[in-house]
Amino acid sequence: MSSLPKLPLPTPSMGVAAYDEERRLRLAGDSRCRENFELYKRSQRDPDIRYLPIKLDIENVSRCNFRCTMCQVSEWPKGKRAEDMSLADFKALIDEQYGLVEIKLQGMGEPTLGAPAVFDMIRYARERHIWVRTVTNASLLHLKDNYRHMVDCDPNEIQISIDGATKEVFESIRKGSVFEMVVENTARLNAYCREQNVTRTKMWTVVQHNNAHQLPDLVELAARLGFTSMVFSLDIGDWGNNVDWHDRNKQISVDDVSMASAEKLIARGHELGVTVAFWNIAAKYGAKAKSELCPWPFERAYVASDLRVVPCCMIANPDTYELGMAKPFKDVWFGQTMQDFRHAHIEGRPPKVCEGCYDLE
Ligand code: SF4
Ligand code: SF4
Repeated sequence: MSSLPKLPLPTPSMGVAAYDEERRLRLAGDSRCRENFELYKRSQRDPDIRYLPIKLDIENVSRCNFRCTMCQVSEWPKGKRAEDMSLADFKALIDEQYGLVEIKLQGMGEPTLGAPAVFDMIRYARERHIWVRTVTNASLLHLKDNYRHMVDCDPNEIQISIDGATKEVFESIRKGSVFEMVVENTARLNAYCREQNVTRTKMWTVVQHNNAHQLPDLVELAARLGFTSMVFSLDIGDWGNNVDWHDRNKQISVDDVSMASAEKLIARGHELGVTVAFWNIAAKYGAKAKSELCPWPFERAYVASDLRVVPCCMIANPDTYELGMAKPFKDVWFGQTMQDFRHAHIEGRPPKVCEGCYDLE
């Protein structure tokens, strides 16, 4: 039996109390947001949606300077799918979507390629007490003091992807990277956070065959780089049941860690001041009860850099599955295509792109 259900899940690196406080401030500061949130809480995955999403994934750029082996970006021509999202479009989306309490500002790409606009985007959301999480490969943080700007614009969480404890393993997975540069930039970012007396960062490792032997070393590396929390993410997605990616990523996936080795990692982390958690992105949803359904269609969506809306970050590509153009987003959210998508989940016949996430036995 999988050990995953018993393992600690990720929590905000700033702490749950900080997360709750930000939510309180957001709801207290905007009555429309508060009313929307109440409607959302009461609805419980009702197909007749009467509220706006409470969360969004917003992709500021769909291009990357890395070509990671498990990532669909590695197959895009020149690592790019579309033009960057403009700051004006981002602001219009945030203004329109008054129901938001949380965003993830990153998608298929490296968000700091969109600097300095990305820092203005983060600040714009944070001025409204929207909880902001972003993810970076840390390769560009040394440029133009990006590491400082990244902290100064006040995101709540900065997740840094570190998939190997040595140059050889890291660069074999994160193709196009330079291990020393990522290490140096990450240490620099964490040192700046300490200087500013803030906790913002979290190390994130996608466990796979190539690095599974390095889990203890990765905990040591997290401590050396100045992290206070880290996550081992197990099982790699297939970008919407894409046959090619499904087979490829299945081959490199590690679905489980033994309880004994997980406990050792947690204990070693504790000694080093690093909280170790585990995440399984392929935890199966079920269609027998509403509480088992995938929550995305009922609370959240993914807006790509060219404003095309995708159901979620597991698909993360409108060329694979598109729900419409976010101009305005509410037309997509309340539109027929998204309603049909919700009904398919409720009726136990999720679309093909979702089949990998469901256990329909
Ligand atoms: S850094 Fe992220 S977006 Fe870029 S190729 Fe790697 S996994 Fe994909
Ligand atoms: S079930 Fe569908 S909408 Fe939900 S996470 Fe999986 S692919 Fe995305």
